Amino acid sequence: MTVMYDQILNIIQDADRISRNETILEQHSKGMTYHQPQKPEIVVYPKSKEEISTLLLYANERKIPVTPFGVGSSLEGQIIPSQGGISLDLTLMNKILEVRPDDFYVKVQPGVTRSQLNKELKKYGLFFPVDPGADASIGGMVSTNASGTNSVKYGTMKDQVLGLEVVLAEGRIIRSGGVVVKSSAGYNLTSLFVGSEGTLGVFTEITLRLRGIPEATVVARATFPSVEAAGSAAAFMLKAGIELGKVELVDEATIKAVNAYKGTTYQEVPTLFLELSGNQLAVNQGVELASEVAKEEGCLVFEFEQDTLARAQLWEARHQVAFAIQAANPGKGLLSTDVCVPISELPNAIKETRRLVEFHGVDAAIFGHVGDGNYHAVLSIDANDLASIKKVEAINQQIVEYALEKGGTCTGEHGIGIGKKQFLRIEHGESVELMQEIKNIIDKKGILNPGKVF
Ligand SMILES: Cc1cc2nc3c(=O)[nH]c(=O)nc-3n(C[C@H](O)[C@H](O)[C@H](O)COP(=O)(O)OP(=O)(O)OC[C@H]3O[C@@H](n4cnc5c(N)ncnc54)[C@H](O)[C@@H]3O)c2cc1C
Repeated sequence: MTVMYDQILNIIQDADRISRNETILEQHSKGMTYHQPQKPEIVVYPKSKEEISTLLLYANERKIPVTPFGVGSSLEGQIIPSQGGISLDLTLMNKILEVRPDDFYVKVQPGVTRSQLNKELKKYGLFFPVDPGADASIGGMVSTNASGTNSVKYGTMKDQVLGLEVVLAEGRIIRSGGVVVKSSAGYNLTSLFVGSEGTLGVFTEITLRLRGIPEATVVARATFPSVEAAGSAAAFMLKAGIELGKVELVDEATIKAVNAYKGTTYQEVPTLFLELSGNQLAVNQGVELASEVAKEEGCLVFEFEQDTLARAQLWEARHQVAFAIQAANPGKGLLSTDVCVPISELPNAIKETRRLVEFHGVDAAIFGHVGDGNYHAVLSIDANDLASIKKVEAINQQIVEYALEKGGTCTGEHGIGIGKKQFLRIEHGESVELMQEIKNIIDKKGILNPGKVF
């Protein structure tokens, strides 16, 4: 162990950027949810691609596992150093390298966070649209192919990453893609790296596509007598070409949990949370049309707001759903399911999930990104009780099986990590072998984030 410290010090040349402090090891040992923690032997904070390259060369020669770390907000145990070794914390590589407003791209280091980037872009009238709930790092978001509420309009990370600089396991530094939105040159390596969960290389520079900040934004809340009516209204709104920026569905039991948690009096019925964005005229027309469509589907109440504070208040219940379940189950952890189904299947999938959790007597918030068929059941879990873990995992399995049967996927945005490994083969069959072969070619000794995905 002393040997490893001395050798790493030789590479990094700065003792302040190498840590064996117990609290720091602990921080890098566990994810946000219920997965079993495992401490790394050492945490290293690189500042350049050259340092990462030399460090990986060293680790590869000695078969030392290396687990990249962004801000640690991933939900499937991706940053847990399952086999010990080095936790490679990229927080100090947080420079915005180049903004090209007229070409709609930015080059960043991987430790830049989403809010840091958007703060900088605001002065150019631009923004970066992918918004996972947490203030995640761009490197982590590339690595999990993150998305969130904005994906109905702007797509997921894979639609925003134009190019990457990647350090491979043997220390080789390569570049993929470029700065333009179109290219048909050769294999699309960028797409291979997006979603690779730290198992194929370490991203040291990321080129992202940017968007103009819409002139107008309006948010709306529409309540419905049933989940089906809400789902059907959302589908008609999409078909009508309404400028939807976000469209989220929250079921009635979840609204009830929010009321209990916040002391609010939201109507306890299935609710659609909408955001319309674009030019003022299109947004005004969109709100009118959305309200008409909602009424045709039996909408009980349709309210909308343009003012910033009032907009936040209208979305308050949506933002509180996971916290409401956590507060109702003090001391317990959470497991968030993450399936995605064809859009038309979403209302039934949500109903089936509610039936399942009630049958098993587990508290759960259920909410969906109706625009793309991705929904979450945030389930309360006692990480110290094997029976609780088994029960919740069994529910997760049934939710995944239902989604796969309908042609969906086990994970829309959180990734495989440790928690969903068993579903990958069920979903992709023999293709998993090809994935494993690709991994073996790029990372021959398997040092990069071992124990994840496969
Ligand atoms: C409250 C809450 C809400 C969330 N909501 C959403 C949501 O709506 N949508 C969504 O997609 N996710 C959501 N997430 C999950 C999480 O925010 C995303 O998975 C995010 O992309 C993780 O980014 P991170 O910086 O925390 O990465 P980390 O958790 O630090 O790492 C994630 C993975 O990326 C790898 N990695 C990190 N940096 C690099 C790099 N430079 N090179 C190579 N690999 C790297 C790690 O090894 C790991 O495998 C949510 C999480 C929380 C806590």
